[in-house]
Amino acid sequence: MLNIAILGSTGSIGTQTLEVIKHLPDCQVFGLSANSNVALLKEQINIHQPKMVVIGDQSKVKELGKCSGVSISAGNDGLCELASHPEVDLVVVALVGAAGLQPTIAALQAGKRVALANKETLVAGGHLVMEYREQLIPIDSEHSAIWQCLDGKNISEVKEIILTASGGPFLNYTGELAKVTVMQALKHPNWDMGGKITIDSATLMNKGLEVIEAHWLFGFDYDKIEVVIHPQSIIHSMVRFCDGTIIAQLGTTDMRLPIQYALTYPQIKPSIVPDLDLTKLSELTFAKPDLERFPCLKLAYQAGKIGGTLPTVMNAANEIAVELFMQEKISFTAIPQLIEMVMEEHQPIFNPTLNEILEIDISAREAAMKVANQLKGRMK
Ligand code: MG
Repeated sequence: MLNIAILGSTGSIGTQTLEVIKHLPDCQVFGLSANSNVALLKEQINIHQPKMVVIGDQSKVKELGKCSGVSISAGNDGLCELASHPEVDLVVVALVGAAGLQPTIAALQAGKRVALANKETLVAGGHLVMEYREQLIPIDSEHSAIWQCLDGKNISEVKEIILTASGGPFLNYTGELAKVTVMQALKHPNWDMGGKITIDSATLMNKGLEVIEAHWLFGFDYDKIEVVIHPQSIIHSMVRFCDGTIIAQLGTTDMRLPIQYALTYPQIKPSIVPDLDLTKLSELTFAKPDLERFPCLKLAYQAGKIGGTLPTVMNAANEIAVELFMQEKISFTAIPQLIEMVMEEHQPIFNPTLNEILEIDISAREAAMKVANQLKGRMK
């Protein structure tokens, strides 16, 4: 029996992980964590009977009330405790943002297998996390695809990896991007995901974060990581080998597939996801991303290539920018402007320690708030 802890169980990946676990006979839930959705967490406790639960902060512990047979803790310390608990075999990290870094490292240090859905963790602390590469399995659909394409292959025979991107809701939008609303940005054409990642998909920052994620997971230089726009999201990513052969992974656009593969790896098990009907596909198209309209992807390549703490800063500035956009405090096109200004101010440190990363993450968020105020002043 595989004992699983899900960090971020009330989010999109967390709830889908629970659906997958329900139909896998040799997996069971040991622990769950939620930041603020107490009502859904209560429901999940009733159904899955975990032994341990972590909630965002102490005030929420009261709100959650007593649950018999369940130990309850709060905050980052609670997450690290659950992630490294002796009875846990596998930790699914489905937290949003750089908040995933510390619990992921705690799980890895305790020898756990980690199924990682949280790309910001690799963006902020890739060199620390990859010390434990044998224990890591990606959940992100593109990286799961590449993982499968590379299985049994010799890395030195790879020419490049090709990440596919849907292009988001504004791929063919002809209006002014500066005037798009939060509602428009939240309408992803293919994937039903959480708010932050959906906005990241609209700006192409999601693909930028995934480029950095791929760099760390598979060890390729940035000039060997290509992005192509593939609006149908049927090919989840590809690998081109030195003889020109391309191996692609295709499947139904459903996160429960890569989640299940991460839980059952190296085995493949029957799934609850309906099969892809190839005869119903009308076309598979590919195009180059437009880096002028979507500068976030360009910024991510820049940050990744320079490295050190610059990706941490870019990620922190992006988290703030997305939050401010969702609160309708800045425009859609101010997101990359804000990120670029914060990146320009930063002098990167190379090979940072975990503490240095955490400190720089906080100061970059403060810098981003200041820049946001300057941008607002300029717009008036
Ligand atoms: Mg992805």
